[in-house]
Amino acid sequence: MQKIENCQEIQALALAQRRAGKSIALVPTMGFLHDGHLELMRQARKLADLVIVSIFVNPIQFGPNEDLDRYPRDLEGDLKKCEAVGVDLVFTPTPQSLYPDFFQTAVTVTEITKGLCGAGRPSHFQGVTTVVSKLFNLTLPDTAFFGEKDFQQLAVIRRMVTDLNFPIKIIGVPIVREKDGLAMSSRNAYLPGKERQEAAAIFAALSQAGSLYREGCRESEKLCQIVLEQLEEKIKSPFRVEYIKLCETLNLTEINGLVKQPAVLLIAVHLAGTRLIDNLQL
Ligand code: AMP
Repeated sequence: MQKIENCQEIQALALAQRRAGKSIALVPTMGFLHDGHLELMRQARKLADLVIVSIFVNPIQFGPNEDLDRYPRDLEGDLKKCEAVGVDLVFTPTPQSLYPDFFQTAVTVTEITKGLCGAGRPSHFQGVTTVVSKLFNLTLPDTAFFGEKDFQQLAVIRRMVTDLNFPIKIIGVPIVREKDGLAMSSRNAYLPGKERQEAAAIFAALSQAGSLYREGCRESEKLCQIVLEQLEEKIKSPFRVEYIKLCETLNLTEINGLVKQPAVLLIAVHLAGTRLIDNLQL
């Protein structure tokens, strides 16, 4: 497995591979890899000749009071994990190499970035779409893999790729969960023992709404309400709900009233100073 830090070097390598007729898959990550990330890599491995994983904690997608400085990192461990699942190349750029002096360009998806996570993190998605565009141009992938855990992010990337005609197929990968149902996330490492146990209530609450839906309930308010009730019942530590929303799967428009189309229930909760997100497609 190769490791490259330099932007020119990886772009030259990617170009040579494409000219030689090889297919490239990209898995963008911020590192501190867990089995959710590795699942993206395993899927990529099945599909492409060359699997590239990027590891980059992207400063421009963090807000001023967010966890950029304390975001967990373990490059050595990450490299071992990548190698074990058959990744060919890990790209580890520095912030200075991706955002040199005088950098002043941004990619913005205007509408589906406004609600949900975008409401509480106003510059977040612009940071994501800008860095992902750069990673696409540097690694020239045929396919790129993103997790459904970040459901809005996946929708934003799909929108961007369609709107800007990137010749790249975006593949969404289902959420990988811990045994107790908590969606795997690098940020779970922030949770102290008690809160970590209580965090399992998030998926349990979504699942309760899923059961209610399967029993025939189609009222969005009731489906969201049961999630809140379940959290209040099961989480004893202080927590704050940022949002619980039922949205159309395709464009993430909020559903008020009756659910008539494919829908997804999305949640963001703050627990022990940690922002946790999850979702369930109904
Ligand atoms: P991150 O390192 O958090 O930026 O995540 C990198 C990629 O891994 C994103 O496409 C995430 O959606 C995906 N991902 C993170 N956690 C999971 C998970 N539990 N299951 C599936 N994909 C995930």
